[in-house]
Amino acid sequence: MSLSLPTPADVLAAAQLLKGVVHHTPVLRSTTIDRLFGGELYFKCENLQRTGSFKFRGAYCALAQFDARQRDKGVLAYSSGNHAQAIALAARQHDIPALIVMPDDAALTKLEATRGYGAQVVTYQRGTEDRNTISQRLAAERGMSIVPPSDHPQIIAGHGTAALELLQEVPKLDYLFVPTGGGALLAGSLLAVQAAGSGCEVFGVEPEAADHARQSLKAGHIVTIAHPRTIADAAQSPALAPLAFEIIRKAAPQLLAASDAQMLQALRFLAQRMKLVVEPTGALAFAGARDGGVALHGKRVGIIVSGGNVDLSRYARFISD
Ligand SMILES: *Cc1c(COP(=O)(O)O)cnc(C)c1O
Repeated sequence: MSLSLPTPADVLAAAQLLKGVVHHTPVLRSTTIDRLFGGELYFKCENLQRTGSFKFRGAYCALAQFDARQRDKGVLAYSSGNHAQAIALAARQHDIPALIVMPDDAALTKLEATRGYGAQVVTYQRGTEDRNTISQRLAAERGMSIVPPSDHPQIIAGHGTAALELLQEVPKLDYLFVPTGGGALLAGSLLAVQAAGSGCEVFGVEPEAADHARQSLKAGHIVTIAHPRTIADAAQSPALAPLAFEIIRKAAPQLLAASDAQMLQALRFLAQRMKLVVEPTGALAFAGARDGGVALHGKRVGIIVSGGNVDLSRYARFISD
C-alpha cells in the first residue's frame, strides 16, 4: 500500500473500481429551492449510498489494495459511526474478516448495523480507555491491518468519486460545497475537480466548534481541537488527517463554518422541501451554502449531502421545533 499523496488519476481509477459496486446516487433538484436562492442547486444524495453514507466508497477502495496475507488476517477499524459500517460491509464483500472497535455508548442501531454486516465488534469505555491503544494492541495480537477513517490514500481517492460523479453529471458547476471533518472527503473532492478538468470552486464546510481546517490553513500546520462539541457527530474529528491536509493546503479551498442551529435548520429544510432524511453532518454542506455568506445568485451549485444515519428518536427531536 502506497502512503504517498493520492492524485486526480487515483480518483479516476477508484471510479472504475467502484463501478457496479457503489450506488450511483441521485442528484436531486427543487424548483422552489432554486427560486429561493436564485441559482441552480444540485444535491448529491450520498445519504442514499450503501451503508447510508459516502464512507463506503473509500472503504471499498482501501480493502481492494490488501495483499493475500492482509486479506487472510483481516481489517481493524475504530469508529463509532459511518466508517465502521462502511468497513464492515466492504470487508464482507471482499471476504475479509473485520473487527470494529466501538465505544460502548455508541448508538445501538450502529452497533447492530455493524454486526449485521458480519463484523466482530469490540467495545471499550469511552471515558477510561483509549481506543488507539486498544486498537493497536488488538491489531498486533491478531496481525490485522488498521484502516483509518481519513489518513489513507485510497480512502481519499475513493471518497472523491462522489464529487466526480456529480461533476460528470452536471457540467459547468460553479461551486461545490463539501462537509469537512478529518478532511478525506474534501481532499478527494478537490482531486475530483482536477480530474474532471473543472473550474469549479470548492468550499469546505466545518462545524463551528470544530473549525480546525480553517485554523490549520491559516497557521500553515495542522491545528487540533481536542474535544469539539457539535451535533455533527460525523465531523467531530479533532484535526485534519496529515494526507488530507497536504492536499487541502495545496488546493487552498475556501473554508466556511456552520453552527449547530444552522445545521438543524438545514436538516429541517431538506426534510420538508426535498423529502430527504439526513443526519446532522449530512446537512452541514447545505448549511454552509445557505448561511456562509456566499452569493449563489446565478450560480450552478453542487452540494454533497453526505449521510443519513441517525436514530429515529434523535431525528424526531431534530425536526420538532
Ligand atoms: C465522515 C463524514 C463526513 C466528514 O468526512 P471527512 O472525510 O471526515 O472530512 C461528513 N459527513 C458524513 C455523513 C460522514 O460520515
